[in-house]
Amino acid sequence: MDNKKILAIIAAIAKKIEAEKDFLTELDNEIGDGDHGINLARGFKSVEGKLPTFADKDIGAILKGVGTQLVSTVGGASGPLYGTAFMKAGNVCKGKMEITDAEFVAALEAAINGVKMRGKAVEGEKTMLDALCPAYKALKGGIDSGKNLIDALSDGVDAAAKGVEYTKTIIATKGRASYLKERSIGHQDPGATSSLFMLQTALEVLRET
Ligand code: ADP
Ligand code: MG
Repeated sequence: MDNKKILAIIAAIAKKIEAEKDFLTELDNEIGDGDHGINLARGFKSVEGKLPTFADKDIGAILKGVGTQLVSTVGGASGPLYGTAFMKAGNVCKGKMEITDAEFVAALEAAINGVKMRGKAVEGEKTMLDALCPAYKALKGGIDSGKNLIDALSDGVDAAAKGVEYTKTIIATKGRASYLKERSIGHQDPGATSSLFMLQTALEVLRET
């Protein structure tokens, strides 16, 4: 995967988040403060504006640039969390114009570890980690067993979708939704949903190109 493909994925994620802005905000209205879609769309709009300046940069610099932009524009809990995720993924790809499938997996792992560290959360707390962690496990399992990136990521997206469904069944113990205690049951987590959208979009771009 080269830097152009990473840029195409980022550009497509920005479009997807804009398209799903109202839906994500609706989900956050139910168990939060109704700003998740607005927050993320604002952040990715500003990322979109920066894309031309990233054109010839290596993958590490691109991902770091995206993370920095998200931290400074998204706000809320998800801004620093997604910002950290992209910056940590960028560290793994530092100086590289191309990455292997194994490095892609390592970048997702670093992103997740960044979210866990920053948010002091683990799987099962009704957060973005409930989409990201199962996706990572399926993706890594697929690559380790010799699948190509598209097939392995497709398993990852399926696992993330199941993770999003799972968030409906559990109580939030992190973030604003935790104030609702058992009343958070029955609602799907907005952050897990936006994470699923990002993974789905990456897969779509890989399939098309
Ligand atoms: P805020 O809750 O500050 O309004 P957003 O609405 O943008 O921020 O994002 C809410 C999402 O952030 C939640 O749906 C959840 O997935 C994620 N989130 C919140 N707190 C944490 C945390 N400590 N660790 C991981 N993810 C979290
Ligand atoms: Mg919110």
